[in-house]
Amino acid sequence: MNKPNRKQDALDYHAKGRPGKIQVVPTKPTNSQRDLTMAYSPGVAEPCLRIAENVEDVYKYTAKGNLVAVISNGTAVLGLGNIGPEASKPVMEGKGLLFKIYADIDVFDLELNAKNVDDFVNIVKALEPTFGGVNLEDISAPTCFEIERRLKAEMNIPVMHDDQHGTAIISGAALMNACEIQGKKLDKIKMVVNGAGAAAVSCSKMYLSLGVKKENLVMFDINGLLSTERTDLDEIRSEFATTRKDIKNLTDAMKGADVFVGLSAGNVVTPDMLKGMAKNPVVFAMANPEPEINYDLATAARKDIIMATGRSDYPNQVNNVLGFPYIFRGALDVRATAINEEMKIAAVHAIAEMAKKPVPEAVNLAYNITNLKFGRDYIIPKPMDQRLITEVSAAVAKAAIDSGVARKTISDWDAYAEELRT
Ligand code: NAP
Ligand code: MG
Repeated sequence: MNKPNRKQDALDYHAKGRPGKIQVVPTKPTNSQRDLTMAYSPGVAEPCLRIAENVEDVYKYTAKGNLVAVISNGTAVLGLGNIGPEASKPVMEGKGLLFKIYADIDVFDLELNAKNVDDFVNIVKALEPTFGGVNLEDISAPTCFEIERRLKAEMNIPVMHDDQHGTAIISGAALMNACEIQGKKLDKIKMVVNGAGAAAVSCSKMYLSLGVKKENLVMFDINGLLSTERTDLDEIRSEFATTRKDIKNLTDAMKGADVFVGLSAGNVVTPDMLKGMAKNPVVFAMANPEPEINYDLATAARKDIIMATGRSDYPNQVNNVLGFPYIFRGALDVRATAINEEMKIAAVHAIAEMAKKPVPEAVNLAYNITNLKFGRDYIIPKPMDQRLITEVSAAVAKAAIDSGVARKTISDWDAYAEELRT
């Protein structure tokens, strides 16, 4: 039999028919001359005047409130590196497609010719009138930290860099559940983080907020352990530098560790390293497309392991799609001015709790699995689980209201859940 040509299939998928993956669809009748005079001149002048009088009416008369900008400069695209804004467009269109199918959020994907912080920030800030929210995507570290920090401070709509916080939220939920199953307490675990880029830094910050102790966490970049003896570390990496002197390499660090988190590169961890870890280890090898250690190798080396990866062909995929559509859904629905820590933590708990509830039969069917239940091979929900939209969006919306960043409130939560389901 011929090997399926996946590369050609993917190219055909994108090129056939109208090129690309998305289009703009009108939401109002356009059948008659009368419809058109309302859609455009002269009818359109009425909503313009109302908005000119009261700028908040832009949410009443335009698509702003359901429109998210997915913005990249193409400097850190998937695992492909700095391939440029045009080459990032298929990814951003894809992200738009996911927002739409999972949370009915409309997206304009914007690929910017803007590599430095000031250019990027100025362009995005100027877009604020158009959008209800901004999803930053695939921007390289360390620029991404400063871009997000400034946009959050200077804009009045929710801004989130999904590569940082999406991964932190999903893996945070996975960490809570994996540790619960393995009988480990977050404030006691010894953790090794391999990688010190955008994802590793924000995940580590999330784990600290969830209870992991800084003194129990060591981090590596490509040059080795982040230690206080190094002179080449920037401010962000210095935060994670250890004073420990007994660690020379990753093998040393893994001895007795409870949790390994990989957000670095493929195949840099060996079975022997895993054999040195504590009883009931937790290993999240999330480098894409090749994890830090292959799933089969890892599970053969340690029968007592809980393993997660970024891949869909193994159990426990840490997939950002469990988070971003619903985080933005909740934020937009209460017209939040930000996506703050409270909202992110609420998403973590909602995702973690969902995995412990009985799995609807539709999910088993969608994945051709029988009897999926909370345990070693199921620590986080599956992307096709339709409960995600109600559970996560509502938790995020509620956290936005409780933390004072919502400009709209929800009083009937059952009605809101019903609205989300349909
Ligand atoms: P990034 O900003 O480029 O960071 C990569 C980091 O890994 C850098 O700090 C780099 O060190 C370090 N590194 C590379 N090779 C290493 C090695 N052999 N040993 C130790 N550290 C090494 O990229 P990112 O966005 O954080 O993503 C990192 C990886 O995680 C990628 O493979 C990405 O696909 C994956 N990821 C997966 C998920 C998911 O599963 N849901 C989500 C996000 C990211 P230097 O800075 O010193 O070069
Ligand atoms: Mg990304």
